[in-house]
Amino acid sequence: MPPDSGSGAPAPGLGEPGLGEPGRMQGFVTDLLRHEGALVEAVEPEGLEVLAPRPVQQALGLGELSRLGFGGTLPPGAQRVGLEGDWLDRFAQVLGPRGRWTRRVLSAPSRAPGDSEGVLGQELVLDNATFRLLDVSPAWTRYLVLDFRISAVSDDKRDFTLRLGVNLATGALPDAVLAALAPTLDAPTDEPALGGSDAAMPDDTALPASWERARLLELVARALPPRVETALAPFVKGLRRRLGRDQDRLHAYHNDLHREAVRRALALAEGDPRRRREEQRAEAIGREYRAKLDDLARQYATRVTVEWVQTLELAMPVQRFTVQIRRRKADRSIRLDWNQVVRRLETPACEWSASAERPRLVCDDALHLVVATALGPCQSCGRPFCRACHPERCPKCGAGVLPAGGAVS
Ligand SMILES: [Zn+2]
Ligand SMILES: [Zn+2]
Repeated sequence: MPPDSGSGAPAPGLGEPGLGEPGRMQGFVTDLLRHEGALVEAVEPEGLEVLAPRPVQQALGLGELSRLGFGGTLPPGAQRVGLEGDWLDRFAQVLGPRGRWTRRVLSAPSRAPGDSEGVLGQELVLDNATFRLLDVSPAWTRYLVLDFRISAVSDDKRDFTLRLGVNLATGALPDAVLAALAPTLDAPTDEPALGGSDAAMPDDTALPASWERARLLELVARALPPRVETALAPFVKGLRRRLGRDQDRLHAYHNDLHREAVRRALALAEGDPRRRREEQRAEAIGREYRAKLDDLARQYATRVTVEWVQTLELAMPVQRFTVQIRRRKADRSIRLDWNQVVRRLETPACEWSASAERPRLVCDDALHLVVATALGPCQSCGRPFCRACHPERCPKCGAGVLPAGGAVS
């Protein structure tokens, strides 16, 4: 995301809706209005003439007969429709809860990776443990793919969508696999499966069970902050750079004024009323500088809102790896899915921070797979412990554990 791209521009690679492309918005509005029973006719240049039923008139704030324009030049009498303003919110009103939950089956011919051991060695990097591939066998999984709309607002604004997916069979958060799968998922399709048909799924398919709502929410609460931070990093870097520049400018300006007032004061005899005036001037400059710094801090303070947009339940065949993790005398088996469509093995999520960061370390007691910070020393007593084993407080001294988001970045 270039730091100076226009405000509101969707971040590339983050599943942007693409409505900003020429013609896309007009096409979307045409489809939506026709679906809602409106009569829609294209008018030149890049516009629509709409005869809308009452509920659509109310939701969109349109008259019974209206004209909408999408291009640089509007048809006579048309209102401009675009990403600016509140048009997206108005369309959301028309859509209501529809489209927020979809179900899809992606079938693919069963195929195993050529070199399973090699694939595993590439994807699973453990710095303090060994592992062994026990088995690779065909299976089906279900992913919940959640899309969120993220808005960051300060002196600048950034809007984008963020995709978070969970493999319900293994608990993995396969960011890289889903990113590679995105073109397949986002491509227009007329598969009947999109509507929820299970035609593509063999009769005897065993899908993983649904998760309790609380379990999913808990995972999302851990997994979103590090991903939002990563996605916002270039934006925040740009803000920090501009904030630093403005602070330097303020400092230079007030410092010169202050030094000048002090110099003039010192040049005058003590007891001279003009000297007192210069001293007061220097104090006033100091106060003004601090107030301006506070203004800057307010101007650059960033408010980030996260809003759930839609969920896709995606069922598809995978190759399931069973892997034995060994550390000292203990061992543990985990399962990792190899996605057949994008031909990639999913990395296990850190069992504490849920981040996708690598490599992983393995803890002594439960053989949790975690990022290095999760096994770091206690903030208070300095002794190391596993945050996945002890998410609340240090087992040695009882000091509270800082949230993963704050420690991992
Ligand atoms: Zn542990
Ligand atoms: Zn401690």
